[in-house]
Amino acid sequence: MTRNKRFSHLQGVASFDVVILGGGINGSCLFDALCRKGYRTLLLDKGDIASGTSQASGMMIWGGILYLKNLDLRTVFHLSRDRNRMINDMSDWLSPVLLRYLPSVRSGRSKWLVYLGLWLYWLIGFGARRMPGSENSFDEQSFLKETETKGSLTYEEAFLRSSDARFVQHWVFPHQGADQVAMNYCEANGEYSTNERLWRLDLKDILGGMEHSVTAKIVVNCAGAWADEVNTKFGIVSPFRHVLSKGVYLGIQRSPAHKTSLVLELGEHDDIVMLVPWGPISMWGPTETMVQNLADGFSVTREDVDYLLEHFSRRFLVPLTRQDIVSIRCGVRPLAVDQNFNADCYPLEISRRQEAVLSPDKPWVSCYGGKLTGCTRMADRVLGIIAGAVAPSGLASRQLPLVEMEYVTFPGMPEPVPSAKWCLEQELCCTLEDYLRRRTNIAQWVPRMGLGRDDINLLAVWAIAIELAGGDLTRAERLLAEYRQQVARQFDDLIRVE
Ligand SMILES: Cc1cc2nc3c(=O)[nH]c(=O)nc-3n(C[C@H](O)[C@H](O)[C@H](O)COP(=O)(O)OP(=O)(O)OC[C@H]3O[C@@H](n4cnc5c(N)ncnc54)[C@H](O)[C@@H]3O)c2cc1C
Repeated sequence: MTRNKRFSHLQGVASFDVVILGGGINGSCLFDALCRKGYRTLLLDKGDIASGTSQASGMMIWGGILYLKNLDLRTVFHLSRDRNRMINDMSDWLSPVLLRYLPSVRSGRSKWLVYLGLWLYWLIGFGARRMPGSENSFDEQSFLKETETKGSLTYEEAFLRSSDARFVQHWVFPHQGADQVAMNYCEANGEYSTNERLWRLDLKDILGGMEHSVTAKIVVNCAGAWADEVNTKFGIVSPFRHVLSKGVYLGIQRSPAHKTSLVLELGEHDDIVMLVPWGPISMWGPTETMVQNLADGFSVTREDVDYLLEHFSRRFLVPLTRQDIVSIRCGVRPLAVDQNFNADCYPLEISRRQEAVLSPDKPWVSCYGGKLTGCTRMADRVLGIIAGAVAPSGLASRQLPLVEMEYVTFPGMPEPVPSAKWCLEQELCCTLEDYLRRRTNIAQWVPRMGLGRDDINLLAVWAIAIELAGGDLTRAERLLAEYRQQVARQFDDLIRVE
C-alpha cells in the first residue's frame, strides 16, 4: 500500500489501543511486539522511520564492554544477555564478528590487565561467545604504525548484516494489517480527555498536508533524543530526562587488508576509537561530545572532522585527508538520567540504562535510554506496562512477507539494491534521502551521499527522483534540488579544503 493510501486508510480506523510517537529502534521494535499481541497500534514518526539516531550507530550488537571500566556490571550483564539472545534469534539480521583490541604502546595500560578484563567480560556474557585470544600477527598490521600496537587481543560481539536503518525498518513494514498502521512524516498534537479516558490526537501529514483525527487509549513516547521535548509538548512530567551525547563517524574507502573491527585506545577519557569494516568502506569513530541542544547534536562540524582525521593519522601509516572521506554519519545518544542530575562529566561515565515509566495521572509511557542491543528488552518492558493498563482489542498480526523485492544496480554499489519503485510502494519511501540513506546504503558507500565525486551519478539519482515522484517531473526536480542542497550542507561544506 502506498503512503497516501495508508494515510487515507486511517479514516476507517480512527481508534487505536496504542499510539507510539517515534519510529527509531525503540518505537519500531515495540510496534512489532504490540502488533503480535493484537493491539490496534499506530506508529508515527515526524521524519522518516529510522531517521534519528538509529541510522547513525556503530551497528554493533554488543555486551557493553566499555561500561566495565565504570564497574557498571548490571548494564554489561543485561547487554551481554541481550546480545546473546539476538545472535541466537535473529541470525538473518546479524552475525557474530571478531573484534581486535590493540593495546597502545603509548598508553601504558597493561595488555595483561586488558586481557583479564576480556575474560571477565566473557564470563559475564555467560561464556557464550568465542573465548578471548591473543594474536601478535594479523592482516591490519600492514596499515598500522608500529608504535601503535603491542599485538592484539581478540573477543567476539555481533554486527548488523545490512544496516541499522534496515534493521529498524524490518520491525515495521511487514505489518500491514487493518489495525496496524505505521506513518512517517506525520506530526501529532492533542490532549487527554479525562471524561472519555482517551487521548484525542490530530495528525498532520507533513508532506501532503492531509489532516486526520484519531483516539488512543495509551500513548508511548519513543522519541529518543526528542523525548523530553515531546513530553513537554503534551504536558507530561517524568522522573527522568535525557542527557545528549553527539557521536560522529567518518566513512573511508576500505583497505583489502581491513578484515576485523579494530578497537584502539583513544588516549583521552579512557575511551576507545574504532575502525569498523562495513561493505566497501571502513567507519572511523565515534566521537563522544556532550551537547546542550538537538540542533548541535545532529550537525557535524569541521572540528568534529578534524578531530577524527587527526586521531586517524596518529595511528595509521597513510594519513587521512578530507578528500578521502566517502561519507559522514552523526547521531545523538539519548542517555537516561534522573531529572535532578547535574554532574559535569564525560558522557561515557553516564550509565547506559534503560527506563520506561507510566505517568501517574495519564495513560502515557515515556522511554528513556536504550540501544539497538537491548531493543527487545525495552519492548518487553513497555509491553508489560501497557498490558497492565489496556487490553488488546484487535487481531494478532504476524509479519506478512512483503511483495517480493525488486532489485536494481547503482554505480559504485557492490551488490544490487531494492528498486526505488518497490520502496515507494512497499516501504513508505518518499524522498531521495529516504531511499539513498535508509532503504539502501548508497549514501554511505558511494561518495557525496551517492551523487559521486563531480556529480558523476547525477543521472542515476535523477532517474530515482523520477520514480519516487511517480513520473511527475516538477516534483522530481524539487526532490533532486532539495537533495543537492542537503549534500552541499552535510557533506561538501565539511570536506572542502580551506
Ligand atoms: C555514534 C553512535 C554509535 C552508536 N553505536 C551503537 C552500537 O554500536 N550498538 C548499539 O546497540 N547502540 C549504539 N548506539 C546507540 C543507539 O544507536 C541509540 O541509543 C538508539 O538508536 C536510539 O534509538 P531511539 O529509538 O531511542 O531514538 P531514535 O532512533 O533517535 O528515534 C527517535 C525517533 O523519534 C522521532 N520523533 C522525534 N520527535 C517526534 C515527534 N514529536 N513525533 C513523532 N516522532 C518523533 C524521530 O524522528 C526519530 O525517528 C550508538 C549511538 C551513537 C550516537
